[in-house]
Amino acid sequence: MKFTKNPLAIRIIISSVLIIMIFINEIYLHVYLSSSMGDEYNLMTSLYMFLTIITIIVLFSNVYLTYRLGLKLSKDQESIKKREERYRKLFRHTSEGLYDMDSDYKMKYYSPDWYKSIGLDINSTKIDAWTNLILDEDKEGFNERFKKRFKKQLSTDQEYYVSEYRIKDIHGEIHWIEAIGRVQFDENGDFASMSGVHRDITRNKVHEQEILQMAYYDPLTNLPNRLKITEDIKEAIELNKKFTIMYLDIDNFKYINDTYGHMFGDKVIVEVSNRLKAIVHESDIVAHVGSDEFVIISSSYINKKQIEGYVYYILNEINSQYIIENTTLKFTSSMGVAVFPEDASTLRKLMINVDIARYDAKENRNRYRFYEASMGKITAEKAKIKNALLKSIENNELYLNYQPIIDFSTKEIAGFEALARWENQELGQIYPDEFIPMAEQTGFIHQLGYFVLEEAIKFVSILFHDYKKYYKINVNVSTIQLQDEKFLDHVQEVLVKYQFPAKYLNLEITESLELENNKKMRNLLSNIRKMGVEISIDDFGTGYSSVNSLISLSVSHIKIDKTLVQQATTIQEVHKLIKGVVDFSHAMNMLVVAEGVETKGMEDIVLGLNVDYLQGYYYSKPISEEKVREFILK
Ligand code: C2E
Ligand code: CA
Ligand code: CA
Repeated sequence: MKFTKNPLAIRIIISSVLIIMIFINEIYLHVYLSSSMGDEYNLMTSLYMFLTIITIIVLFSNVYLTYRLGLKLSKDQESIKKREERYRKLFRHTSEGLYDMDSDYKMKYYSPDWYKSIGLDINSTKIDAWTNLILDEDKEGFNERFKKRFKKQLSTDQEYYVSEYRIKDIHGEIHWIEAIGRVQFDENGDFASMSGVHRDITRNKVHEQEILQMAYYDPLTNLPNRLKITEDIKEAIELNKKFTIMYLDIDNFKYINDTYGHMFGDKVIVEVSNRLKAIVHESDIVAHVGSDEFVIISSSYINKKQIEGYVYYILNEINSQYIIENTTLKFTSSMGVAVFPEDASTLRKLMINVDIARYDAKENRNRYRFYEASMGKITAEKAKIKNALLKSIENNELYLNYQPIIDFSTKEIAGFEALARWENQELGQIYPDEFIPMAEQTGFIHQLGYFVLEEAIKFVSILFHDYKKYYKINVNVSTIQLQDEKFLDHVQEVLVKYQFPAKYLNLEITESLELENNKKMRNLLSNIRKMGVEISIDDFGTGYSSVNSLISLSVSHIKIDKTLVQQATTIQEVHKLIKGVVDFSHAMNMLVVAEGVETKGMEDIVLGLNVDYLQGYYYSKPISEEKVREFILK
């Protein structure tokens, strides 16, 4: 604060100057008049004396006021100094900067330390110099915005004013600043002053950014995640411009994971995401929305032919060879495509429809499918069933039936085949021919398989407890289950848990090329056999296998498929063929089961085949636990 700027000081100076001028004037008058006047002179002298006394009084009072003013000014300065000192002491170790604003909205004070912390010297610059460091984006309308917000704030009678902006310090570093002010009102309720702090919140901001990154981006691929792409799609819908959504999904990715390990699987995903990023148009968005699922949003093409060409190109790139960790790899992937707004006008519908198209592509073994209204019904129904299936175990909807297997020579029950049953309240009874393939597609087969295994072994252990007889239990196992590395341990665990002898467990595996070709699986089969568990090749005669090819597999039983058995009753050649298979199997130490024996007549013919076991409706359909007990007691 400067002396000359004080209004009181100016008043004192002006009055002093005036008085001195009057005084000089009086002296002049006195000298001049004393020589030219007579009697009147005395009167003038008294007047002169009077004026002189007043002048002297005013002068003295001015001197006194000046003295007081000087005293007050120095006191003010001292108090500011003290205030600064106090602030400085309080905030010496923080990057917080204090400020004071007066009722005229002008800044009156900033703490020098804060100025220093952003690279400025408060003594050598204008008081508001720091505002020049505010980033242009944040500065734009800074003043306007400030005033507007501030006024609004005042009108709501709130005591605190908060704002945020970035500044670039003289070293070029960006700081996020948060300004918090506390507003003071005078007795009339008008704005009196505001004081507060400027805080460097850069670290919080970085942290915030990290959290955002975590919430919106997939850490493996660095691509936007499902949440982010959903918001992007929402935004795109709001813009109401045509765009295409492509949902890409790697076929049988689980196989890659199971065969090469998850770390390798991750590398495949990273490689796929890199390829996608490299091949899509710059304005397109690629997101990683699930373990092996990607979404691409594109507005690069308008007409269907072009989009189709683009889709074809992307799939071609993704499905071509990869070399990862010296392993050459090739796989396929499928894509569902839907176009906004033609195929759906809302986010939810769009996502459902692109999913429908994707399922359709998968199911029909097409590489890509554009959404069509007609797909919806069938696939939606299937999707519904699939979703219900995933919850079938926890909802207690899954249970087992048992079909007796009859010993050929004694005609007694040798054991039972456990067959999964699913009854859903809404969907009714669904048959395994429908839900097992679904379980295989979704990977739910693992859960289902373990459930069936445990339930079945539990049941025959109870039968043993009740009837003191071990019945063999046949459990169906899908080849997909054999890809689970924990499969063997799990079987062992369940046997131990129920104290059930391994030799009474028989795992039925459907013949397939995979079974013959996959070395890992063959090893697994042989390890299962080493545990003492039996293995049947199921549905023999329906696929590619010849008996010869089965020799190399560690198999104990062959189950001749019911279609073949039924043909044997009418076709002489088939009868002969089966006979050959049975003889050969016996020579190779394998036992044979004939499936699908439905009548007495069929039994007679099958008996001539010299098989070891019989199974079919003629003896019993698959039945509940209760019925099994009745069957045993019969
Ligand atoms: P599968 O292993 O060949 O099971 C025998 C199927 O033939 C059963 O059908 C059974 O009800 C039926 N069947 C039995 N005797 C006769 C007969 O005399 N005549 C006729 N026409 N059919 C007969 P289901 O229970 O519908 O099972 C169908 C398929 O589902 C099974 O064929 C099996 O491949 C699969 N499956 C069932 N349960 C499971 C399971 O727990 N796990 C796995 N992976 N697959 C299962
Ligand atoms: Ca079976
Ligand atoms: Ca079968």
